[in-house]
Amino acid sequence: MIQQNTSPWQTRDWQNELQALIEDPLELAEALDLPTNTFLDMQQANKLFALRLPASMLDRIERGNINDPVLKQFLPTGKETDIVRGYSSDPLQEKTVNPAPGLLHKFKNRVLLTVTQSCAVHCRYCFRRNFNYQDNNPGKAGWAKALNYILQDANIEEVILSGGDPLSLPDEYLSWLLSSIEKIKHVTTVRIHTRLPIIIPQRITNELLTTLTLNRLKIVMVLHCNHANEIDEEVMHACHLLHERGITLLNQCVLLKDVNDSAQAHIDLNKKIFDCGALPYYIHMLDKIAGAHHYDVSEAKAQQIMQDINKALPGYLVPKLVREVPGAGAKEMLSF
Ligand SMILES: *Cc1c(COP(=O)(O)O)cnc(C)c1O
Ligand code: SF4
Repeated sequence: MIQQNTSPWQTRDWQNELQALIEDPLELAEALDLPTNTFLDMQQANKLFALRLPASMLDRIERGNINDPVLKQFLPTGKETDIVRGYSSDPLQEKTVNPAPGLLHKFKNRVLLTVTQSCAVHCRYCFRRNFNYQDNNPGKAGWAKALNYILQDANIEEVILSGGDPLSLPDEYLSWLLSSIEKIKHVTTVRIHTRLPIIIPQRITNELLTTLTLNRLKIVMVLHCNHANEIDEEVMHACHLLHERGITLLNQCVLLKDVNDSAQAHIDLNKKIFDCGALPYYIHMLDKIAGAHHYDVSEAKAQQIMQDINKALPGYLVPKLVREVPGAGAKEMLSF
């Protein structure tokens, strides 16, 4: 039987969802009944990093609440134009670990490919908000160098697709990438870092499920969800489809002031993540990227939150608190 493009539960097409965007701060303010005195602020920050929010996300944001924890992640504010010591445009110094276009090799047995610059949403705290994707988005022909680099290094067991959001690519392109990687014998695992199953769950079509599973590779999907309110019934359904196909589902979040800087926020989040068939993986300390200082949570507060989560949840629902350290052989794990 020929599989249909969309499952019956999908009343909306993901490509349309991806194009039905709110990109004008004024439109966002009006759609959510936000006070317009924040508007000038928004416009300035918007010039640095453009607002991008699929209109369907509005259903998960409380109207009239400028402090809504989902909205806070995407709403431009004037604080982004502050210049703050210790915050820079390349806090991870990734330029030094970029041996081929589109490939980052920091840790011995795994490489990361920045396969696209495009994302379904723009998260204001994103450490790639200033990344030079022009130099690092080679396109199909340009991947030869990166693939050859992986082929030459038998230590590399895992290839991480990141971006941007890899699932914003068409199935055909993903299929080509996966089959190119599959040919390299020492690679056993492909990991996909994506926010799309959360932002536009309609992305999880039967075609995509087939693309992901029709190869010998172990597929790990690391979701990116910061708050329980991001997970509605459709998100849960999309995750169940992935889980049923044997894809290992994990979630990473970023610890963000006024979004999820309480133990309760993480308790609620991780219970819901488990309901999706996923397990929590990392809580990241904020990367010190210029324009994001107002999201920072202190180490002491992060450790207190971890202690409280640890008491409230079974061990398998407690994520690891990590920080990115330039030049280190792995992410730094913070004790608590
Ligand atoms: C985070 C990261 C990885 C993956 O690290 P894990 O600890 O395996 O999740 C790999 N490469 C780069 C460049 C990274 O930033
Ligand atoms: S989806 Fe990921 S890569 Fe894209 S803006 Fe958000 S955090 Fe950054």
